[in-house]
Order: sequence, then structure tokens, then C-alpha cells
Amino acid sequence: MSECIFCKIVKGELPTKFLYEDDKVAAFQDINPVAPNHILIIPKKHIASMVEVTEEDTQEILPYIFKAAQHLAEEFGMDKEGFRIVNNCGAKGGQTVAHLHFHLLGGRQMLWPPG
Ligand code: 5GP
Ligand code: ZN
Repeated sequence: MSECIFCKIVKGELPTKFLYEDDKVAAFQDINPVAPNHILIIPKKHIASMVEVTEEDTQEILPYIFKAAQHLAEEFGMDKEGFRIVNNCGAKGGQTVAHLHFHLLGGRQMLWPPG
């Protein structure tokens, strides 16, 4: 998956400051933020989208996604005021990067539905 931009970020081929990192996941600022806090949390392993996640991935990676989200929410002061986590999946879900990622959004009032 050498052409995947998020794999390139994980490998350090696209200079990107990690806001959080452990063995399984990495997190960094979205290049085009839609909220004062807009952080992408991704598995280091290339998984194209939510529908590609295996049972093994769920057990091995999901706990680390949650841990990263909690850590970042606290670090950026979103744990008290609230935040939103979004996964866009596939064309109609609005997914534009084919490497599983979770948007951690905060710092403003979220509205529902988003439109
Ligand atoms: P999606 O639309 O697939 O749910 O979200 C992809 C997100 O990745 C978008 O919000 C977009 O701004 C962000 N993005 C795309 N390319 C890059 C990049 O090279 N670096 C960073 N930090 N974010 C990116
Ligand atoms: Zn990838």
C-alpha cells in the first residue's frame, strides 16, 4: 500500500506531527480542519475501511483507538465539554482516504444531523 497517504504518514514519508502514537495507532491534525479540534486517529496497519475490519483487528486495534481518543480528548480539553467521533465509510459515507480513520472533532457545538 505504498501509495496510501496515511501509510506514508505512518512510515514517516510525509512529515506529520503525531499528537499521539503507540504500537497500534497514530493520531495527527487533519490537514483541512472543520472544527477547532480536528484530529485523525488511524490504525498503523493498512485497513481500507470499516467494512474491511476483521474480528482480529477489532480485538487488536479498537481498544487502542478508544485509548487514543480518551487521551487526546483529555489533552485538548474535550473530555469535559464533549466531542464527536466520526467514521466515514465508502463513497456514500463520504470517505475520501481509503485507510480506516476516525475523526475526533471538538471545540465547537456539534449539530445533528450534519447535513
Ligand atoms: P474522509 O473524508 O476520508 O473521512 O477523511 C479524510 C480526511 O483526511 C479529510 O478530512 C482530509 O482533510 C484529511 N487529509 C487528507 N490528506 C491528508 C494529509 O495528507 N494529511 C493530513 N493530516 N490530513 C489529510
Ligand atoms: Zn494505508
